[in-house]
Amino acid sequence: MKTRLTVKEFKGMIKNIHKTLEENKDYLTKLDSFIGDGDHGTTICRGVKSALEKIEEVKPTTITELLKTAGFALISSMGGAAGPLFGSVFLGMAEGANGKDSIDLEGLEIMFSKALEKVSKIGKANPGDKTMIDSLAPAVESLKDSLDKVLNMDEAMANMSRAAQKGALSTKEMVAKKGKSRYQGKRALGYQDAGATTMYLIIDAMYKSISQEEDK
Ligand code: ADP
Ligand code: MG
Repeated sequence: MKTRLTVKEFKGMIKNIHKTLEENKDYLTKLDSFIGDGDHGTTICRGVKSALEKIEEVKPTTITELLKTAGFALISSMGGAAGPLFGSVFLGMAEGANGKDSIDLEGLEIMFSKALEKVSKIGKANPGDKTMIDSLAPAVESLKDSLDKVLNMDEAMANMSRAAQKGALSTKEMVAKKGKSRYQGKRALGYQDAGATTMYLIIDAMYKSISQEEDK
């Protein structure tokens, strides 16, 4: 049972995020085509591929350096609105890791709280606006709850993934107040937000990369 996550684990997580998003590329683009401009799957996959390439090149030695490298790669390769937004999720996590080369559950909670803080500051979206915040915010809440309950890393990450999935599904009932889908008004009802789905898939890939590693 893992109690601490190191640079090696975070690198494994980024690899699994890449694999997962590639597998879901067409699905994510389809979601974005209903109520956005239909580029999301392609853009996010391009971003994460570039993040992986940069990581291979830089060979980061701390979690902060690794996630900072990923964040800046996302920003420069994705562009548009989503580049800085998804980039800031990784830059926030990098900041939260505070130069460490390993973190415990408390550290993970600080990292995700920073990610939420940063993306909320840049995008100015609140929960309920039908964005990635609607899966990220419940994930952070879930981590806080797991810390209170003194759960282990595996249980906490499993709960966090479930909370993010529930959050992503809840965007179906929302009218968008941010992003391109806000132009759709009530026509966006019934459609799941692409970015919230990606945020869930990122969190789930992080969890599964750790739990699968333990099975080996
Ligand atoms: P673009 O809107 O530039 O086409 P993408 O299609 O790649 O970018 O990403 C769209 C996603 O970005 C949305 O589904 C939503 O989850 C997220 N998003 C848009 N605006 C914001 C915002 N202000 N804050 C947080 N997330 C946002
Ligand atoms: Mg789009």
